[in-house]
Amino acid sequence: MNMKRRPKLRPAAWDGAVVGLVLALAVGCGVLLRGNGGSGEMAVVSINGEEVDRFSLAESAGKREYLANGYVLVVAVSSEGVRVAEAGCPTQDCVHTGVISRSGQSIVCLPGRFILRLAGGTERGNGPDVDAVIG
Ligand SMILES: [Zn+2]
Repeated sequence: MNMKRRPKLRPAAWDGAVVGLVLALAVGCGVLLRGNGGSGEMAVVSINGEEVDRFSLAESAGKREYLANGYVLVVAVSSEGVRVAEAGCPTQDCVHTGVISRSGQSIVCLPGRFILRLAGGTERGNGPDVDAVIG
């Protein structure tokens, strides 16, 4: 028997790439499938009723700024959840809402007509838009 093996093509070399690819797909698809162990919360930002941004809490630690009807809102994302850290609006209700971290919770800024809503993860039937294609 002449069983040639080619030591240069080591499966181990591919493992890293495959794992990376699978992880990337899992992150993207996990949200769509909604069964990702509760760590797949997505923040959905709407201004004037239109979705302007959507990001994963797990991957978006840091600050984001939005201009909502002339008011600047600074959204802070951390391992605890997401909150409006600063806002130029007169009522500051959005700032006072504090941190939200679970699906179905939301932060609303009425003057800015700004809504930040959490979706995915442990969400229970909160609308078909969760299954929308991301990006
Ligand atoms: Zn506000």
